[in-house]
Amino acid sequence: MATAGFAARIDRARHHMSAQGVDALLLSVGADLPYLTGYEAMPLERLTMLVLPAEGDAHLVVPGLEAPRVVERPGVFTVVPWGETDDPIAIVADLAGSVGTAAIGDTTWAGFLVDLQRAMPDTAFGRASAVMSELRAVKDDAEIQSLRRAAEAVDRIAARLQTGEIPLIGHTEAEVSAELGRQIIAEGHHRVNFAIVAAGPNAASPHHEPGATVIEPNQVVLCDFGGTMPGTDGIGYCSDITRCVYTGEPPTEFRELYDVLYEAQAASVAAATVGTPCERVDAVGRAVIADGGYGEYFIHRTGHGIGVEGHEDPYIVEGNATPLVAGHAFSVEPGIYVPGRWGARLEDIVVAAEAGPDPLNRVDHHLAVVDA
Ligand code: ZN
Ligand code: ZN
Ligand code: ZN
Repeated sequence: MATAGFAARIDRARHHMSAQGVDALLLSVGADLPYLTGYEAMPLERLTMLVLPAEGDAHLVVPGLEAPRVVERPGVFTVVPWGETDDPIAIVADLAGSVGTAAIGDTTWAGFLVDLQRAMPDTAFGRASAVMSELRAVKDDAEIQSLRRAAEAVDRIAARLQTGEIPLIGHTEAEVSAELGRQIIAEGHHRVNFAIVAAGPNAASPHHEPGATVIEPNQVVLCDFGGTMPGTDGIGYCSDITRCVYTGEPPTEFRELYDVLYEAQAASVAAATVGTPCERVDAVGRAVIADGGYGEYFIHRTGHGIGVEGHEDPYIVEGNATPLVAGHAFSVEPGIYVPGRWGARLEDIVVAAEAGPDPLNRVDHHLAVVDA
């Protein structure tokens, strides 16, 4: 993305700052910093911090040895490299000035916050998410395009699971997970975020860690995987998909369970229209699962926002009355988990659009039967 795009984002951040009465925004490790500057801080003991005052120039304080990695953006921020014997906390405190309120990145290391609080005794610190979450939750066209490309990439991998091109039977979950990881990279992501593979009873654990379990014939295999792909603005956007396959002809009981899940997921996607409260999208699918007799086995929220981060606002969960707006991007991923037996989850990334819900993942939603 051109420098002008980042300047526009900084402008919007400033609007949110003034609306919230925030005098300075301080961003370090995490997704807010690359979103505003195109630069991602290394999670290291040397402090990287953007100091963005409500008025006046933004400065990016970076360790001198990392300064060569920074793509300078004149008019957006000025780079302030610090040397090994400098005190970066003092530099940040000096640039921020004695402001009343500062919002600091939620994932900034606590040690830095403690030091900054000592160096800025008159400043009240709040969370940067209060300023940034709403901003990042609403995607522009370029961001939606980036998310769509990432979704299409994992769709191609899911299709290979469904056709049996990625062999399952006789392989361990960990082996299949590693293969999914390889394909995530081969399809253009620069980072694998996760590749859950859960076979048989393990599929009843939503965040199962793929292990030494060997996949057998006549089992459900739940695969939930995603990565980060470079977007058109030069920073990364995430993919996240779940599909289930059965290594053989599924028993009627499982088919019935999956049919309910399929219907619930489709109902939630269809409900995700602009103006609908997030919690309504959750409630619609949850009602289908409850009516199907599996209510007690759907043990998590329906979804999470997605963008520069794999999980961000808006959360599709009971209690979140935020109405969807055009540009919200989020997962719709109900699941049914019967402990000790089996489980299933079905997940797409969906964008709320004026024309209606736009599912970015289009690969087949039915339970695929494979014999390999
Ligand atoms: Zn999850
Ligand atoms: Zn997922
Ligand atoms: Zn997800």
